[in-house]
Amino acid sequence: MDHFDGRRFFNPHAMMPTAMRAPREMLAHTPGGSHRVRSILKWQLGDRPQWPSWISDPEPEGNPHDEPAPGTVAVTLIGHASFLLRIGRAGLPPFTVITDPIFSDRCSPFTRLGPRRRRAPGRTLAELPRIDLVLVSHCHYDHLDLPSLRAIEARDAPAVITLIGNARHIRKAGMRRIVERDWWEGVTLDGLHISAAPARHGSARTPFDRNRALWGSFMIRADVDAPAIPSIFFAGDSADGQHWHWIRTRFGAPDLALLPVGAYDPRALMRNVHVNPEEAVGAFLTLGARQAVPMHYGTFQLTDEPIDEPLERTLAACVAADIDPARFAPLPFGSTRIFDFPRTVAVPAEAQERKTA
Ligand SMILES: [Zn+2]
Repeated sequence: MDHFDGRRFFNPHAMMPTAMRAPREMLAHTPGGSHRVRSILKWQLGDRPQWPSWISDPEPEGNPHDEPAPGTVAVTLIGHASFLLRIGRAGLPPFTVITDPIFSDRCSPFTRLGPRRRRAPGRTLAELPRIDLVLVSHCHYDHLDLPSLRAIEARDAPAVITLIGNARHIRKAGMRRIVERDWWEGVTLDGLHISAAPARHGSARTPFDRNRALWGSFMIRADVDAPAIPSIFFAGDSADGQHWHWIRTRFGAPDLALLPVGAYDPRALMRNVHVNPEEAVGAFLTLGARQAVPMHYGTFQLTDEPIDEPLERTLAACVAADIDPARFAPLPFGSTRIFDFPRTVAVPAEAQERKTA
């Protein structure tokens, strides 16, 4: 495996963006290096710009219980990296997926410490339909939230797909139907094929488990024998890198890409873990997605950029790249939107690969 040294996972050198491949640059910014730890401490102890303490959102539009027509997908933004995806299927009820669910007040191991939510979840769990599958991209507290997983397990006992090393955390929420996958490995479930894919990131839940569990992204597609559904890419947390290109080469361009646009400043500390909006728009272009929905902004203040800046810069970067901004438009918090992707061309023929993945 090119991203595991027998003890810890790492981002392979080949994943570095071309512009950052100079060796000196790499040494200075190796995530988790002592240089980085010192800089992070200095930054966290300093004065940091503050977001508004609370934002009240308007009543959301749409209904997360709506049953999308076969071949369409209903997307509800819950907040941060949590989306509810309802995938319409012919002759079957919709398949319902939740990504990196977090409904808690804080993304932290502590109830009274750590980043606090600045707006309510767009929808509460009680407002959502039955969940068939949970995707967990990595074990950082803002993506793997045990209270939320516990509540979902108690109500729906869904399947969980995650990357290697995260099941031991997820089991603490009482979840039992967990499958771990390495990058490029997949699972077939109810006519869908869900593949784990790379992200350029890292992981930790304590000071002692840095990069002991793998991080990644997911691609959802129709299983080879199933009728077409939109292909959906969920990026998890990621810095910029060559993996956008690898993912497109491997799976073909997704219909819909859920891409992070926030938590990027100060750049020197964040650029090896989170894309900025311009890089997110670059990822959208490299993936060749027909549509993107931004995520990872406006919910928890993890970093220094002002609360409105991620969406402003995403819009500006679309305009600068001559992309119709409607193709990378945010969903209002809590709102449900149905995406329909008329099929004009066949999906790439990868039947063999998917069967063996
Ligand atoms: Zn993370």
